[in-house]
Amino acid sequence: RGEMVFVGVRGVWAVLWCVLVLAARVDATPRGSLAPVTHRRLANDESAKATGGDAKGSWSEWRYRSNEELASAMDALHAGPCAGISKLTTIGTSVRGVEMRAMEVSTQPGVEQTKPGIMLVGNMHGDEPVGRELILRFARLLCIAHERRQRSAGGDDAGERGLELEKDPSDEASANLLDEAAVVASHARVFLVPTMNPDGFSARRRNNAASVDLNRDFPDQFNEPGMPARFDARQPETAAMMRFSEGVNATAALNFHEGALVANYPYDAISGTNRKAGYSKSPDDAAFRRLAKVYARAHPTMATAANEEFPEGITNGARWYPLWGGMQDWHYIKTQTMDVTVEVNERKWPDESRLARLWNEHAPAMIAYATAVATQSTTGRVTDSATGEPVRGAVLAVAGVDGVRFTPSRRTGYYARFLAPGRHEVTASAPGYYPQTRTADAGARLDISLRRMEDVRMEDVRMEDVRM
Ligand SMILES: [Zn+2]
Repeated sequence: RGEMVFVGVRGVWAVLWCVLVLAARVDATPRGSLAPVTHRRLANDESAKATGGDAKGSWSEWRYRSNEELASAMDALHAGPCAGISKLTTIGTSVRGVEMRAMEVSTQPGVEQTKPGIMLVGNMHGDEPVGRELILRFARLLCIAHERRQRSAGGDDAGERGLELEKDPSDEASANLLDEAAVVASHARVFLVPTMNPDGFSARRRNNAASVDLNRDFPDQFNEPGMPARFDARQPETAAMMRFSEGVNATAALNFHEGALVANYPYDAISGTNRKAGYSKSPDDAAFRRLAKVYARAHPTMATAANEEFPEGITNGARWYPLWGGMQDWHYIKTQTMDVTVEVNERKWPDESRLARLWNEHAPAMIAYATAVATQSTTGRVTDSATGEPVRGAVLAVAGVDGVRFTPSRRTGYYARFLAPGRHEVTASAPGYYPQTRTADAGARLDISLRRMEDVRMEDVRMEDVRM
């Protein structure tokens, strides 16, 4: 049965891949020859790059791009298929001065939106390069899927890029995957960091140029109480990632590694000094298990008996082997980001001839994960009942999920949180306001308006408003 699933997914991706290759050919033709496209172009777009840099060749080739090629591929996406729905940011520089870049794909790039955020981080370990290509191609898939949907929604000039696919109406599965990618592009903000360790990549070495393992360089919840940032004590790559993540506060993340085939969830670290492996449960353990399974089950072999070491395709980090100072735990505790570490291949730095297959295997899992976060997170706004404005100092708490920071956006009052399946009691509170507890199913929309204490006479206060 596992074999059949495998062949099925491969077949679907072979067809989808043809569509993307054909789409690349459309990208390569001058913009003027296409039906009018109503993009909100960014001021700094350079249209010339759309026709030059994004030629079919660079995407049909399967190889590890150099740092320079990676940067120009991001430029080409930004000016080509992702024009108007992407923003490029320099988040910092490596020890050797290589620029570290992030790309946002969303319908209003660079603008805070009331949508879940999803972050993808690759190549934290220099000798684990597959994530660079997965993330780059994932960005491209989102953009092509988004444009395809825009065009088919546009009526008369529907087609162009979508046409090749629609010629074969029997292929519903690949159409569904493109549809899901389009949903992610429109329902989430996606932040892509293809490489966190460009120097390590160039040297084909795990550590950065200062010989530090970046996945041991983040604040550690057990040995650094309160996890102070202390940016000056971190490697420049770690500090850059931390600053970027703190600004984004993504709902969930994936970070890609190599050396096994498994979706690894928090905690990676474990308390105590014996350094022995053991299950280190986070308050959101059930939600993390669900998220990790979404990824593993959408991969053709990760969650099957073929995976001898991890038959379910998932593991608690510390249970496998504990580590301290990793990004995953820090993301979860400090930026409210549910980060899952994906080990994409048993061997590190697989031969380039394996890249097409790795993309075919992981793209459906990446889409499934992103779709779950984009459409099944519990979301809402916490607002002042009198003004409708965000409430200063508001915090949220989920019953049974204790001790985790959970706050809505200060600017919009919006929150998004991926919860375990089932019903949850969510309490919103803020200084000077009556706390309010509401019950909602995981994935539901839950807006909470809080009443200021001076605005309320005591006889108006119902018990449910003051229940903690
Ligand atoms: Zn690694």
